[in-house]
Amino acid sequence: MDTPSLGAFDDVRTAPRALATEAVHAGRDDLARQGLHAPPIDLSTTYPSYDSRAEAARIDAFAATGAEPDGPPVYGRLGNPTVARFETALARLEGTEAAVAFASGMAALSAVLLARGAADLRHVVAVRPLYGCSDHLLTAGVLGSEVTWTDPAGVADALRPDTGLVMVESPANPTLTEVDLRAVAHACGSVPLLVDNTFATPVLQRPAEHGARLVLHSATKYLGGHGDVLAGVVACDEEFAGKLRQVRFATGGVLHPLAGYLLLRGLSTLPVRVRAASATAAELARRLTADPRVSRVHYPRIGGGMVAFEVHGDPHEVIAGVRLITPAVSLGSVDTLIQHPASISHRIVDADDRRGAGVGDRLLRMSVGLEDVEDLWSDLDRALSGPAGDAGRRAHGRHAPVPAL
Ligand SMILES: *Cc1c(COP(=O)(O)O)cnc(C)c1O
Repeated sequence: MDTPSLGAFDDVRTAPRALATEAVHAGRDDLARQGLHAPPIDLSTTYPSYDSRAEAARIDAFAATGAEPDGPPVYGRLGNPTVARFETALARLEGTEAAVAFASGMAALSAVLLARGAADLRHVVAVRPLYGCSDHLLTAGVLGSEVTWTDPAGVADALRPDTGLVMVESPANPTLTEVDLRAVAHACGSVPLLVDNTFATPVLQRPAEHGARLVLHSATKYLGGHGDVLAGVVACDEEFAGKLRQVRFATGGVLHPLAGYLLLRGLSTLPVRVRAASATAAELARRLTADPRVSRVHYPRIGGGMVAFEVHGDPHEVIAGVRLITPAVSLGSVDTLIQHPASISHRIVDADDRRGAGVGDRLLRMSVGLEDVEDLWSDLDRALSGPAGDAGRRAHGRHAPVPAL
């Protein structure tokens, strides 16, 4: 039933909106008209229908294109309305036609590789460093893919007739190396370029605008933003999204509706969180660069909440020495985390490959949260001095005693 006022609403919805506005409104445009404010959580695993002929037609349509069925999803593995809200919102933020959510970032990458494998395009060209488990998934060939590692300038020469994917991360995990996405997209020709945009988020970089066909996120990180949701998502065109939905349906790596709800909520503060963390991270990077205990600092030109740095001393002592900062893997939460990539996030990568990709044994990776910059710096400053610095300061009474390690 079309009323003039609904038409007016639709006009507003299709007008271009700024990222900060999309972050709080995308995926929620229907709520006010339904008399709702918070999005409903639909926990149904199945959807009743008295018309099984119509259901058969809907399933045939899904099998043909992977397009989301009109109306209810038939079964929870085919789709979920709460998760769909998050997918709609993320697609708006990344500037793509669609997005498909998965149970984790690794499930999302697996679905991409399986979709290419189904088209007999199993060869992947990839640029190191990648997140450790992504590197491992490609190197071990768990899903039947074969990888050629190269640098961005070597992408064009590495392509083969059976190349189904080119994969880069920018800024890369954990070195924060940046890739010229437009140049790589150009080198890919007709082969889809997948950019892992987990570190930058659409607030700082929208790879689809530079020619990436697939934009992957570990939504576990900044999109969720509070360290309490494991999720992944691929933003892409509708045609590729259809293939990913079919793989998701067949293999089952679906996102739980509660996770979808939390991710949609996380998106609404994403621009504010990323900008605040970025300002603090830039200041910490500046202080670390000036610090004689630090040999090298990596901080991306586009900014962001991640800082990587190499220390002259023992990196394990820095991890053992933090008190406010949490010594833990993962990133993108409201609190600051620090970890030693050679021991944790990139441990699974062969040591020579890891070092060859610039992930040295003295490298530390810090995900800066929303704490006050002075509190973070005093914790880092003390941890950088190691146990000796700690004891010295205790003797001077500047800090309360810390537990023995
Ligand atoms: C964490 C991470 C992944 C994997 O995501 P999960 O949600 O842990 O499966 C992929 N890429 C990058 C850059 C990551 O940091």
